[in-house]
Amino acid sequence: MSDATSTKELDLSSYDIIGFDLDGTLLRYNLQEMSTLIYNVLKQHMVEQKGYSRALLDKQLDMDFLQKGLLLDGPRGNVLKLSNTATILRASHGTRKLSDAEIVATYGPERRLQVANEFYKDPLSTWNGPAAEEMRTLLDYFDMPSALVFAQAVDVVDADSSQANEYHVWQDLLETLMHNYSRDHFGNNKSLYFKAMRADPQRYVLRSSSKLVNWLHQLRASGKKIFLLTGSNIDFAELTATQAFGPNWQQLFDIVATYAKKPGFFTQQRPFLRVDNVAKCELPNSELSLQETLVCGEVYSQGNWTQLHQSLAKHLKKDAGITRGLYFGDNIIQDVYTPVQHAGIECCAIAEELLLLEQADYPYTHVLGSQFWDSYFSVDKQATLWSGFIAKYAKICVSSMDQMAQTTPTQHIHCSNAHGFYPALPKQLEDSNLLTI
Ligand SMILES: [Mg+2]
Repeated sequence: MSDATSTKELDLSSYDIIGFDLDGTLLRYNLQEMSTLIYNVLKQHMVEQKGYSRALLDKQLDMDFLQKGLLLDGPRGNVLKLSNTATILRASHGTRKLSDAEIVATYGPERRLQVANEFYKDPLSTWNGPAAEEMRTLLDYFDMPSALVFAQAVDVVDADSSQANEYHVWQDLLETLMHNYSRDHFGNNKSLYFKAMRADPQRYVLRSSSKLVNWLHQLRASGKKIFLLTGSNIDFAELTATQAFGPNWQQLFDIVATYAKKPGFFTQQRPFLRVDNVAKCELPNSELSLQETLVCGEVYSQGNWTQLHQSLAKHLKKDAGITRGLYFGDNIIQDVYTPVQHAGIECCAIAEELLLLEQADYPYTHVLGSQFWDSYFSVDKQATLWSGFIAKYAKICVSSMDQMAQTTPTQHIHCSNAHGFYPALPKQLEDSNLLTI
């Protein structure tokens, strides 16, 4: 927990190796186009492959329903927003908002869901296994539109058969997500998502600023080792990173690690595989032993944090025990909680939602902002689950890597608050219970 009497700060010069997530971190999406695409392909698959009524296709994309960080209660067909103590702040059944009385009737006076409590206490305990089939937290832009597709599919089921006792919408939607994001479907047009991205990447991926590119160059020139660590397979990373940074994007980094399978990358000892950088695929039978040192300038697939850390320390001619790592990412569980709590790395959170407060002409206010769910950071003076995780685990939280690129590699970055929000605490959190929990 943060020490409420001291403010947080970040001193980039004290780190030897600095890593970055790609999607939503170094690389930003046109959230209007991206959310629309994902919403439409998920709906289409649910109707054509999972047998949902065509009434689902007639539903409209209500951007106000979208928000990062919502939780799906699969069996009940409900969407939940949680507080920093895992109580239910707001909820809907399908797309219909539940009253306080309905929330209490469903979840008890404590307003709690058992699997959400378990997630709160140990987020990785519910990542896989039976709990993952019951609930899901929607933590990034690939997931975010699922909440609306889920809720509208529940509405369609209810319209067909009054109210079901238990819904299977989540299992169907999970299979739909896996179908669309499976790397096996990148090249064969089976994923409508990948098909659209490949046809028109400039529609979805924003060009990165030259300021950000220069900042990465500066970091490297100051003697640090820089790595990219992405869940994307090499072929998809090639598509999106080329759009954002140009064809020489790999040269921005000492090591590129793809298909990293976070959060397991930080907790397990999976081997790295080599990548065919021409065909843009994993080389079959190319597993490295866990003792092998990764080579700078190379691209790898899968792997584990221990080996990446030790390899970069070796290239710096430093003992791994004193080689400090810093990682930037937007997925609060995969990129912040897990590396901090399970791998001893310090992490900075990216919360694009800060731009709703900071940038008057921010173009995606209607996508990330929500009247229905209220602020990403708090509801009625109660901090959200994600504000709580950010305050507890992140070194600092910034709106974007472009904000970091305003700084120099030797600059101390001071937050005005103990919770790490930079430059200042979102105003919704000023009178919240974040300060007292
Ligand atoms: Mg990301």
